[in-house]
Amino acid sequence: MGTQEPNENQFPDLVELDALRLTVIVDNEVDFMTSVPNDLGLTTQAQSLFKDRRHLDTDRSTIPSGHLHTHLHANATEGEGDDVSKRGMTTVDFNFADVCCGAHGLSILLTGIKDGKEHKVLFDTGPHSAIFLENAKRLEIEFEKIEVIVLSHWHVDHSGGMLAAVERCQHAREQQQQQQSASPVVVDLHPDRPDERGICLTKPSPPGATASGAIEYVAWGKEPTFSALESAGGKVSKNAKAHTICDSFFGVSGTIPRNTAYETGLPNHVRWSESTKTWSAEQEIMDERYLVARVRSKGLIVLTGCSHAGVINVCQDVKRAFGAGKKTDDHIFFVVGGFHLAGGSMETRIQETVKDMKEINPAYMAPGHCSGWRAKSALENAMTGQVVSLGVGSDFFITHQES
Ligand SMILES: [Zn+2]
Ligand SMILES: [Zn+2]
Repeated sequence: MGTQEPNENQFPDLVELDALRLTVIVDNEVDFMTSVPNDLGLTTQAQSLFKDRRHLDTDRSTIPSGHLHTHLHANATEGEGDDVSKRGMTTVDFNFADVCCGAHGLSILLTGIKDGKEHKVLFDTGPHSAIFLENAKRLEIEFEKIEVIVLSHWHVDHSGGMLAAVERCQHAREQQQQQQSASPVVVDLHPDRPDERGICLTKPSPPGATASGAIEYVAWGKEPTFSALESAGGKVSKNAKAHTICDSFFGVSGTIPRNTAYETGLPNHVRWSESTKTWSAEQEIMDERYLVARVRSKGLIVLTGCSHAGVINVCQDVKRAFGAGKKTDDHIFFVVGGFHLAGGSMETRIQETVKDMKEINPAYMAPGHCSGWRAKSALENAMTGQVVSLGVGSDFFITHQES
């Protein structure tokens, strides 16, 4: 053990879960039609609408299936006449207004299960409160059960809904406990919070340049402050190093090592300082962290927010952290999130990423959010059958199965 780097990502106590559920609250894409391999246990939100009307037993272990009652039950009054059944053999009234909406950003709820015990963690919160809250309502998210909100990195398309998420968690917890004494939801953040981030439109991005003359910037909006998150009812927990949360059901990384030659961050990315009133170049987004969980007989599930460190660097670090190959179930089973391979300067990295991903060979990938269709199609062509849509409203249920 003496050869480890002092800040190396390690998760020695990470629990081997019986099952992990991933519920996609915000993603860029709406896709409830594309087929998905059975061992990812996918139920799309649209399917759950179908099932609700037909009263099918979805048999989801200890987890209640996310029924959506609102419009269906309001429109199809049970008992009296039942308009639906009068239209031939119609069994389902499908209301498109109930389907979750896509938005540029990411938010995924994780539910880990071990020996009948359950922990819920929210990974990112999407770009703004309206989309986060509306989709969460349509998915009937149980806010009172969310224990930790983990922010992958300080970018507004991930942090924009965070204040609203904290408020909803706290409100739901207080309601359930019917007192103000509810323990606060933990907000797990990297301590290096920028005031704001954005892109410099002038190339190359000038270090420390002020917004004057021909230099133009696109600002993405203010990041929520630590004090605002505390005021909303959260308990801020600042973590720059790898650690586990929720009885070690989940691991959150520290700094992701940059090893590949081509994953060189985000060109023209800049950071605003409120105190000096200046933008400064920041190609590497060093506060980004990944989340990892493991499911018995399936392997490791990796959530990556935007992969500004590079999705290959992320996967290689996970493989190193878990010493892949030493245990049969410590391979990467599922890589989920933004691979950030969209945009002219990023798309040049697709071929090398695909080549290295073939080496890593996760059983499945769900490149969502900022991955872009070129990267998705290149991965699908090279690794046919291993790529699935992320898609808002998707509900993956990855469970241990006796072989
Ligand atoms: Zn980002
Ligand atoms: Zn993003």
